[in-house]
Amino acid sequence: MSVLVLGHKNPDTDSIVAALSYAHVLKARGIDAEAAAQGEPAPETEFVLKKFNLKAPKVISSVADKEVYLVDYSDLAQAPEDFSKAKLLGIVDHHKLGDVTSDTPLECWIQPYGCANTIVKMVADYYNVAIPADLAGAMLCAILSDTVLFKSPTCTEFDKKAAAELAKIASVADTESLGMDMFKAKSNLDASPRDLIFRDFKDFDMGGKKIGIGQLELISLSMVTPELKKALQNELNAVKAEGRHSAILVLTDIMKEGSELLVSSDDENKVIEALGTKKADVMWMPGVMSRKKQVVPPLQGAFKA
Ligand code: MG
Ligand code: MG
Ligand code: MG
Repeated sequence: MSVLVLGHKNPDTDSIVAALSYAHVLKARGIDAEAAAQGEPAPETEFVLKKFNLKAPKVISSVADKEVYLVDYSDLAQAPEDFSKAKLLGIVDHHKLGDVTSDTPLECWIQPYGCANTIVKMVADYYNVAIPADLAGAMLCAILSDTVLFKSPTCTEFDKKAAAELAKIASVADTESLGMDMFKAKSNLDASPRDLIFRDFKDFDMGGKKIGIGQLELISLSMVTPELKKALQNELNAVKAEGRHSAILVLTDIMKEGSELLVSSDDENKVIEALGTKKADVMWMPGVMSRKKQVVPPLQGAFKA
C-alpha cells in the first residue's frame, strides 16, 4: 500500500503541488508514495496544472489505517476528521507549528519560508533528486502564489533562490508574466459567495474559540462590486452561525498591496482592534497580504487571554 502525501483542506496551489512534488521526492528515495488532496483544485491551481500538463491528485476524505505525510500544514483542523486513525510519517510545512502528533519518530522539514515547495526543493537537493521540467514549473507557480509574486512579507531569499532554479529547470523565461497570468486565473469571481469564501479558508482554534478566516487574492479589489460584497457579507454571517465565534474574509489587492476585511463575529470590536484597523465603511489594511503572518498572529494574541 502506498503512503499518502496529503495537503490541507480547501487546497491551494502550494498544497496540491507540494503533494505532487513531495510524492516525487519520496518515490525517488524508494518510498512508494501517492499524492492526494482534500478537494478539487481551485481556478488558480487548475491553470497551473493545465499549463504544466499535470494531473490533479486524487481526492480523499479519510486516512484511517493509512500512512501519511502532511504537506503545507500541521493543524488537526486542516486534516481529515479521522486523522487520529492514521500513521503520521512526516511533515513538510511553513506555517506555525500545529497540533498533530505521532506515535513513532517522524521526518520533519519545517522552515519559516514563504512556500512549502521551497522546502520540497531543499529536500530534493539534499537527496540529490532531479525535478522534471513540468513539475518544476508547477513548483515555481506555487512559490509565486504563496509569496504573491515575492511581495508578501513571508517571502525569503530561499524562496527567490528556489524560484530562480525552478524557472531554469522549467525553461520559464518570464517569471513575472507567468505569475500575472496565474493571478488573473485566480481572480475568477464566477462562483457562489459560499464557494468564494471557502476557496481558501482555514479554521483556527484561538483560546477555545473557533475562528474561520478566508482569503481572496485579486489583481484588483474593484472586481468586487458593491452587490457582491453585500452577498459575501451575508454568506459570511451564515458561515459564522455554523458554530464559529468569528468568520473573517480577507480581500487582498495584490497590486495595491493591502487587504480589505469583511467580519462577522460575536465580538467584532475585538477582531477589529486586534488587526489595528478602524471600523469604517471599508476596513482597509495597507500592506497586509499574509494571513499567516499578519492576520493570524495578532488574532491569536487577542484571543489567548
Ligand atoms: Mg496552503
Ligand atoms: Mg503554503
Ligand atoms: Mg495562500
